[in-house]
Amino acid sequence: MPNDLSPLRRSQVVGTYGPGAVVDFRAGQKGGSVSIVTAGLDAWDERSKKPGLAHDQVIFEPRLQHKLNIAGFRLPPVNPEIAPGVPAKNADTLLGVRFPSWLQCPGCHLLKRAFRWDPEPGQAAPVCQSCSVEQGKKVYPIPVRFIVTCANGHLDEFPWERWAEHTPSCTKQKPLRLVATNVAGLAGLLLSCTECDQRRSMEGCFSTDVLKTVIGKCSRRRPWLPGDAEDTCDAPPTVVQRGASNLYFPVVDSALDIPPWSDRVQKVLENHWHDLLNAAPEDRADLIRILKLHERVGRTVEELVKLVEERSRLLAEPTNESIRWEEWAQLTRHDQPFGAQEEFEGHPERVPDEIRRWVGRLTVLSRLREVRAIRGFNPRDPARWRARPPHRPRSQLIPRPGCLRIEVRGEGIFVALNGERLAKWESQPDVITRVATVAERYAERQRGDQEREITPTPAARSQLGACIDPAALARLWVLRVVSAGTPLRRPRSVGTWPGS
Ligand SMILES: [Zn+2]
Ligand SMILES: [Zn+2]
Ligand SMILES: [Zn+2]
Repeated sequence: MPNDLSPLRRSQVVGTYGPGAVVDFRAGQKGGSVSIVTAGLDAWDERSKKPGLAHDQVIFEPRLQHKLNIAGFRLPPVNPEIAPGVPAKNADTLLGVRFPSWLQCPGCHLLKRAFRWDPEPGQAAPVCQSCSVEQGKKVYPIPVRFIVTCANGHLDEFPWERWAEHTPSCTKQKPLRLVATNVAGLAGLLLSCTECDQRRSMEGCFSTDVLKTVIGKCSRRRPWLPGDAEDTCDAPPTVVQRGASNLYFPVVDSALDIPPWSDRVQKVLENHWHDLLNAAPEDRADLIRILKLHERVGRTVEELVKLVEERSRLLAEPTNESIRWEEWAQLTRHDQPFGAQEEFEGHPERVPDEIRRWVGRLTVLSRLREVRAIRGFNPRDPARWRARPPHRPRSQLIPRPGCLRIEVRGEGIFVALNGERLAKWESQPDVITRVATVAERYAERQRGDQEREITPTPAARSQLGACIDPAALARLWVLRVVSAGTPLRRPRSVGTWPGS
């Protein structure tokens, strides 16, 4: 299909290939390289026959919905198979916007926007016709190395035209050329105009002050979203290399599908849940009757109204932390196998004698659904990113509330450490000293952040917090060795008990 690039896994889209990320593709098997910004959900909807939550590929998770105040989640589109190996026609695809649009030919070194190169029918990568004829093979111009961004995540093209400093009489109709000379570094990279012959080296293009004189303020462009740029941005624009690893850090929320949310009733209610929850309590019975939800779950209207009330109380103000603690509460509640007909199935196991001193509880989770939602990203400075509250990503993927989500099904092991032993261990003098050293280094780092005007990260860690992550990671490493080939995810740690 024209302009199709490579297939992606859904999990990649809620990660490094998420909306707003600049990613490289190859057009076809031997085609040229294509750099794009993955488009946000509004762009998907512009092309989709069923926009928003009317789309077939949606999912629901009441706890995350409530936390983010949205009615549901879109899945990254997949092309369903209508028969084994036969994908459906006209299915939605993940969209990308070409970025940067400036491409340079490796043969003649000319620099032009993508639409000014010779198109290759059905391919996203154009060719340089004259170099292709000269070399007897297809020569594909490649996306330029430099792009402009700011601390708020806006993205724009490098100002090639303005950097070139044409003569006043130049019509700027002919292409630019970028040539590497013998001089080392950016000073040796020479940009020239093939019409007026003005030349300028790229030296200083990474300097914020120099760039300011060329382009002034941030353009506030967000190529991953349709429509106008945002109203304001005071962050100074800077030049970065395309493909720099610090451009994109997705902000991801996740939750396990736990009881009571994992039960059959909730699955029936799911796409009406947001409406039921937001309806006035006295209107819920009517809504249930109109939608015939009571018939579908096999309960009376009154029973269902009560269930909605109970569950709406459960949802009261969840933060990321309480989402984790609700999971903890579910996992520690059961002494017998539970959840056989649900998304969440567990089997408490007898703790083996050799580890009983350290481990208080062991549960094998034979069925588990984790949901992960991406709702924005933070650019550039990982220190700033760490310091920001995770619910306020700097760059929203979409201007109106909504979210992109995936679900992962798998298995898990729940390990609760022996609380008494842990308390004893925490009070040992050498542990206290060690943690104090870690805390001091942490504080030092925060002071450094403050000097660089970065908001310090909140709350020092507890003794347990300082050691639990490394301990969990060590166990994960052991699991990786014994279960070679099985994909494992990072341990899900809970944090400090709320209020303590
Ligand atoms: Zn060429
Ligand atoms: Zn010129
Ligand atoms: Zn900006």
